[in-house]
Amino acid sequence: MTAHDIAQDYLKTGRLAALPDGHFIDGKTTQPSNRKMESFDPGRAEAFAEFSLGEETDMDLAIASAETAARHWRQVTPGERCRILNNVARLFRENADRLSVIEVVDSGKTLAEAQGDIQSSARLFEYYAGAADKLDGRSVNLGPAYTAFTVREPVGVTGHIIPWNYPTSTFARGVAPALAAGCSVVAKPAETTPFTALVMAELLCEAGVPAGLVNVVTGLGADIGARMARDPRIKQLTFTGSVSTGINVAQMAAPNVTRLTLELGGKSPLIAFSDADPEKVADGAYWAIFSNSGQICSAGSRLIMHKAIRDDVLAILGERAKSIRTAHGLTAPDMGAINSELHLSRIKAHVEAAKGRGAHLLTGGDVTVDTDTGKGWFFQPTVIADLEPDDPAVQEEIFGPVLSVQNFDTEDEAIQLANGTEFGLIASVYTQDVGRAMRVASAMDCGQVSINDYWAGGLELPFGGNKKSGYGREKGWEGLDAYTKVKSITISNAS
Ligand code: NAD
Repeated sequence: MTAHDIAQDYLKTGRLAALPDGHFIDGKTTQPSNRKMESFDPGRAEAFAEFSLGEETDMDLAIASAETAARHWRQVTPGERCRILNNVARLFRENADRLSVIEVVDSGKTLAEAQGDIQSSARLFEYYAGAADKLDGRSVNLGPAYTAFTVREPVGVTGHIIPWNYPTSTFARGVAPALAAGCSVVAKPAETTPFTALVMAELLCEAGVPAGLVNVVTGLGADIGARMARDPRIKQLTFTGSVSTGINVAQMAAPNVTRLTLELGGKSPLIAFSDADPEKVADGAYWAIFSNSGQICSAGSRLIMHKAIRDDVLAILGERAKSIRTAHGLTAPDMGAINSELHLSRIKAHVEAAKGRGAHLLTGGDVTVDTDTGKGWFFQPTVIADLEPDDPAVQEEIFGPVLSVQNFDTEDEAIQLANGTEFGLIASVYTQDVGRAMRVASAMDCGQVSINDYWAGGLELPFGGNKKSGYGREKGWEGLDAYTKVKSITISNAS
């Protein structure tokens, strides 16, 4: 069945066929638990399926299974790991239609966005398949008395706590390098988006990943996520989510000195100078904040503009924002739903507070519904103009389709505004002046900068934050560092 057929069937019946409802442990789907939780379709605000609420014993079994499998996997030749990971990429593509519709219904995003996520998940497996047989150490020259070299060894069992905004690609960007490096995996998807990780785990086994190497336990973060974070058998924990939960996870992992990668969101700036083309700036800002309904850690949620182009950019951007069609992700809207009712209420609270402070709203500012059905959890595309640097709408991550606009006169002021939050994930600079672009890029306290484009770059580049956006890097060659440990070996050449 094509994505269109699966989507039509779902829109008619409100059900998706053959969804897993147990955990995936030791190469098979477990019996569904007695404790279940409903999963909601955000585009309809209706439950469409149930999944198992994991308990500590489920997490314990999954970690035990991963520990046994890791011992075997590290002996598998790099060439064989490469072959299996390429198989995974192929199977993801073959199952892209089903996976992408499940992702839309579980997360609220649009079908086009979900299809992009599945393709990038397949690419992540291809990229790291190519790395599996190139994880070489280096030879070190200590003079004639010694021969010295380094080797990169797998860290062992790795834990992955996944957020709800990119359930498939966040799963893939942690699991693919972990497997390439010779590690095993226990993953815990977010409680509002449990299904694609389970389906992907099934596909991984079908592709030849040995039983036990990748396990998925569904349920509440405070129960099984915390159980994972505290377990000494987990040797690397990769967490993506909020700052407060990230700090909590780091504290739970600290007694075991567990390695940690934290990807905690941001308040990323798009800085536009007076020589930038207003059309291009407005287009960049539009995609930076309204993609995935603004629920992106690296969303361009602050537009910092030179006063000379402010009016032109806001005129274009305001018109485009007003014309956005928000509707169920399977009906080809411009923008999909907000992932949960709870999160919708958080976005609303941020915007209501801004209104209460007398904020100048150019457009949007309230919750809405799918106008075709009158249902769903949606938020209007919102632009708040002319904000002061200390305004909460500038300082706090809203994680929705809400753009905060700031204005400047000088380059120094632009840099100060851009770096003036507790986050430091990505930044973008629009200018015709190469020297200025490079000066500003180098002054940005963040992990990634793009010039004259907001979403430039790709999975080949390392991604991650500074300051409260977290630490460690995912994607790119650097994405392998978390999953390998370096050992130095020195041989005496004496006879
Ligand atoms: P969260 O940080 O609470 O959840 C992220 C993941 O952590 C989920 O899998 C969750 O089950 C798990 N988790 C929750 N409590 C845990 C615990 N005590 N121990 C271990 N794991 C735990 O995020 P949220 O409540 O879903 O969203 C809140 C805010 O987080 C959002 O408003 C947004 O600002 C931010 N967020 C950021 C990202 C990102 O990509 N950086 C993704 C999702 C949410």
